[in-house]
Amino acid sequence: MWPGVARTISLPGFVNAHSHAFQRALRGRAAGGDFWAWREGMLDEAEHQTVESVAALYASTYREMRAAGFTAVGEFHYLGLETAFSAAEAADDAGIAFVCVYAAYARGGLPRMRQASVAAYLAELEQLRARGIAVAIAPHSVRACPRDWLEQLGRYAADDALPLHVHADEQPREIEECVAEHGMRPIELLADCGCLGERTTVVHATHADGRELDLLRDSCSSICACLTTEADLGDGFLPATRVRHRGIPLCVGSDSNVRIDPFEELRQLEGIARRQEGRRNVFSTDELWEIGGPNGGIALGLEAWPAIEINPAHRSLEGVAEEHLRAALISGCGADVVVSPA
Ligand SMILES: [Zn+2]
Repeated sequence: MWPGVARTISLPGFVNAHSHAFQRALRGRAAGGDFWAWREGMLDEAEHQTVESVAALYASTYREMRAAGFTAVGEFHYLGLETAFSAAEAADDAGIAFVCVYAAYARGGLPRMRQASVAAYLAELEQLRARGIAVAIAPHSVRACPRDWLEQLGRYAADDALPLHVHADEQPREIEECVAEHGMRPIELLADCGCLGERTTVVHATHADGRELDLLRDSCSSICACLTTEADLGDGFLPATRVRHRGIPLCVGSDSNVRIDPFEELRQLEGIARRQEGRRNVFSTDELWEIGGPNGGIALGLEAWPAIEINPAHRSLEGVAEEHLRAALISGCGADVVVSPA
């Protein structure tokens, strides 16, 4: 079953709680000097996606995720309904559990990303559900959704017990714009609009202040950190130790897919925490594996996803005792230790 590998060790699969698979195409392109310049290149790429290009690109990206040990993915999708069906089929082909985190987009971005009303958005969401595709409600951000959209979407997610995902506090400019428009910061606005709660995942929270983190803690909301992307885009550092001290659940996502490697996401999370605290082992190995798997599953409303097989004879694991395996995978290995399904 595992060609060329004498013995494998089975471990829980990782959950990629935040992906924009089409952005895999952007890796290696210089694409601007900061997040906002990169975003122009990203929008250009988004504009050219078709049902066919999504079918091909997403299938190869999901196969890469599956081979790297991510066995479930939450695709934060803002390219319209038809391509959402293509993404779901691509995930099926790749053997990766799939949740369509379907974005509501009222303003900005591209015409293909926007819906005319919350009712129009929900009608699209219901078409996905009617095909048996697992979904999450996703006001894209406080940039893209005005207050009345946030209120209606928060209510719908609560009534239907659906996960709610939303980008917030990735960049300082987004916070400044929110304060100018609403007189409060993004996570404060989300709280005000009924968008926080135990099924809510705030993506990034890179620049969340103490009060915003308190709101996440008090509402039992989660944070999805996208460490390799946040580094690539120069977003800043997750306030990892302040998040941990408050007991806010964390999960991870490969986001722009500049890298697809669950071990690297977790290593960067722990690396940030170590630098912030000036000590080692801030998150325990057990905590990091929870963040990499079960916490992502909860964030996406998933109950099950496939396990992975590790090759203990891989050269990067040579001399590592089995009792240290899970720690060594995070601190010292790349995703090539995962044995690809045949
Ligand atoms: Zn994102």
